[in-house]
Amino acid sequence: MPELPEVETVRTHLAPYVVGKRIVQVEVNAPNVLKNTTVPGFRNRVVGKRIEGLVRRGKYLQFLLSGEQAVLVHLRMTGKLLYRPALQEEPRARLRLHLQKGLLVYEDVRTFGGFWLVPKTGPTGVPGYDTLGPDAAGEAFTAAYLRQCLAGKKRMIKALLLDQHVVAGLGNIYVDEALFAAHIRPDRQAATISRTEVGKLHAAIGRVLAQGLAHGGTTIRDFVDSNGREGTNQSFLQVYGREGMPCPHCGTRLVYTKVSGRGTRYCPHCQRKRRRTQHV
Ligand SMILES: [Zn+2]
Repeated sequence: MPELPEVETVRTHLAPYVVGKRIVQVEVNAPNVLKNTTVPGFRNRVVGKRIEGLVRRGKYLQFLLSGEQAVLVHLRMTGKLLYRPALQEEPRARLRLHLQKGLLVYEDVRTFGGFWLVPKTGPTGVPGYDTLGPDAAGEAFTAAYLRQCLAGKKRMIKALLLDQHVVAGLGNIYVDEALFAAHIRPDRQAATISRTEVGKLHAAIGRVLAQGLAHGGTTIRDFVDSNGREGTNQSFLQVYGREGMPCPHCGTRLVYTKVSGRGTRYCPHCQRKRRRTQHV
């Protein structure tokens, strides 16, 4: 599933092609991608509007339209937003927005992703959206905030970081990578993580996200940017998808386990259950 760096990659690549353009026609081939409106309802509110901006919050993209409304998009597992300069045969397109020039195409093999019509300001009513935590790449996500979220919590640290109400934008890949970089075992109770460790974890989250962005995202299976290019960050991952291989730090074999139902990789040496006091 695309996480913050992948969604942000789509946003930065797409924005120059679509922002400022008017939507002249809407084509919906799979009505189930529209989550809170009908095809005529969507068409009525969208055709004739200009795309004034494209913003991201967590793993959501929001196309800000002229007038009061916006189109909110979540790609889920296999959703792809692509820009096409001209009309072409597109049997896999679930939805197409014809723009003044070019088209915005939505493909989604499994159709878990979708579109919502929402007001630009105020509550959207989209499940999970209005209660999103601060964006993992935003200024409000500070080490102090993270410390507050962890304090007294019995939940495992990985489950807590995956919770979009705590922090928006992280998923399985970048959480495993950040916990490895911070030397914290994914199944540790949040409350046992020291102030110093929280500082390291916060910095590690920033680093792994920045690395993901710099490489145009991680493509494990489906992710492509709006030009159809795959990301390259998979070549730089330290633990995700590397179970059974030697730890890049210490050579210990990386293990695979489940933490709150999610496949999880870590180094049993670098990420011990409890770190002994380190002597520097
Ligand atoms: Zn190790």
